Amino acid sequence: MTLVDYHVHTARCGHASGELKDYLQKAREAGLGEIGFADHLPMYFLPVEERDPGIAMAEEKLPDYVQEVMALKAEAEKMGGTVVRLGIEADYVPGHEEKLRQLLRSYPFDYVIGSVHFLDGWGFDNLHYLDGYERWDIDELYEYYFQRLMEAAGSGFFHIMAHPDLIKKFNFRPRRDMKELYRRVAKVFREAGVCAEVNTAGLRVPAKEIYPAYEFLVAFCESGVPVTLGSDAHQPEDVGYAFEQALRLIKEVGYREIATFRDGKKFAVRI
Ligand SMILES: [Zn+2]
Ligand SMILES: [Zn+2]
Repeated sequence: MTLVDYHVHTARCGHASGELKDYLQKAREAGLGEIGFADHLPMYFLPVEERDPGIAMAEEKLPDYVQEVMALKAEAEKMGGTVVRLGIEADYVPGHEEKLRQLLRSYPFDYVIGSVHFLDGWGFDNLHYLDGYERWDIDELYEYYFQRLMEAAGSGFFHIMAHPDLIKKFNFRPRRDMKELYRRVAKVFREAGVCAEVNTAGLRVPAKEIYPAYEFLVAFCESGVPVTLGSDAHQPEDVGYAFEQALRLIKEVGYREIATFRDGKKFAVRI
């Protein structure tokens, strides 16, 4: 059994630290089969002057990122052991599909992770914009977030949907029972052919819970949606963070394999 960590950032995003080779070293120590870098795609949906260098790399840095990961990939191949993959984490913002398509097709990504971090320009997972929650009924906010996530899944750009219930990050919890909505999302993921990411970063934030929630993961499993694994590491120490716990959870809900990617193609690995 070989696990993968497909969600690792680099210092290029402006809010992570460490050298790429240190992330790989940590993955080797943790005995991971693969490590996939998935830094934030430049903020293509904003005019250049409004892009925040503390959130994502500038567009002119993207070729360097790809080149650096490819160089490490070649080096890792020579060393043997943990394999390096080239991924990217891309925001889904409706109305900017053409630009997204253009950026994604220019590079040989092994996989593309789709994320919803913004709702109509509000960065709801950013500590600086917490006051935004006051403007919402939380039940309605969850409905709105998941609506956007389903659109993202159906857009055809992504192989993996990141931290599927990121909206719980700051522990603003809905009053309603979520099962029906979880099932709806799972069905859309299944039809779109995307994977759900089991992301352990949720344990490091106020929600203190893996993304997705237990019941959400059950819905994915029942709908036949494949899962993959990511730590969302922003420092080398977090590579493979709490993966024993994630693996236990994945198996407990009934999964027997996880998805891996190479050149945009999906494979299954038994766990
Ligand atoms: Zn993310
Ligand atoms: Zn991330």
